[in-house]
Amino acid sequence: MKKPDRQAWLGGGSDRCANPPDPPPGQPWRIVLLGAPGVGKGTQAEILCDRLNACHLSTGDILRAAQCRGSETRSPALEAALASMREGALVSDETMMALVSERGRCLRCCGGFVLDGFPRTVAQAEALEKLLEREGVALDAVFNYELPSEEIVERLSGRLVCRECKAVYHETRQPPQVPGICDRCGKPLFKRDDDRPEAIITRLKAYEETNRPLVDWYTRKGLLINVPAHGTPEEIYVRTWTCGRSVPAEAGSAPA
Ligand code: AMP
Repeated sequence: MKKPDRQAWLGGGSDRCANPPDPPPGQPWRIVLLGAPGVGKGTQAEILCDRLNACHLSTGDILRAAQCRGSETRSPALEAALASMREGALVSDETMMALVSERGRCLRCCGGFVLDGFPRTVAQAEALEKLLEREGVALDAVFNYELPSEEIVERLSGRLVCRECKAVYHETRQPPQVPGICDRCGKPLFKRDDDRPEAIITRLKAYEETNRPLVDWYTRKGLLINVPAHGTPEEIYVRTWTCGRSVPAEAGSAPA
């Protein structure tokens, strides 16, 4: 199946996908992923999207794409958002909600979606609920990936990413074959600005403060599924569906 190019999501405004997803064979899945930074949400999002033919909607990727585009096109609100991101702090709810609501087309897209990094607060979850209602669609499941915080710090401090194809490596646990070069596309690997130790501490603190109320909120909605996030990406993927056996029957059928 062809990989969606996410142009509408990354660019927003009047941008359209040159390569929109094909409708999946069953119902499209609409999923939210929760979990601390570094828990492996991005990797799971990629696997889920490949298997469900859905689109990976990451709010962090919107900000990183804006950062690469150059400052002349950025609004003051976007500049402030990028400064918060560099420090590892959360961007204001107002800015994040504005960025997501101008992308309503992606939420109602026939391929479905895996939302990664949004919502991060209850205010954002409430805004998302209203936005989905307006678009005439609903969430099927919220997967909450869990790991002890020492392991998260270890993962983040050694993380290397490819900006080109989004592959993720770890300096010692999963190094690339040629140091500093992506195995998949041959482009250079980077450490994210917000994977510096001071930014990691700020990000984990923000996560701890905001995630519990969010988990409670989605539990009350009957959508939350906790998934232990240890093991290989494939093991976690299989566990996602094992833990998610309670996903409503009317949602698309889970792939093998
Ligand atoms: P991520 O790639 O999801 O780890 O996001 C990277 C950074 O983007 C975060 O540390 C925040 O600064 C910002 N960010 C992304 N999504 C949100 C959100 N939903 N609310 C607030 N800040 C966000």
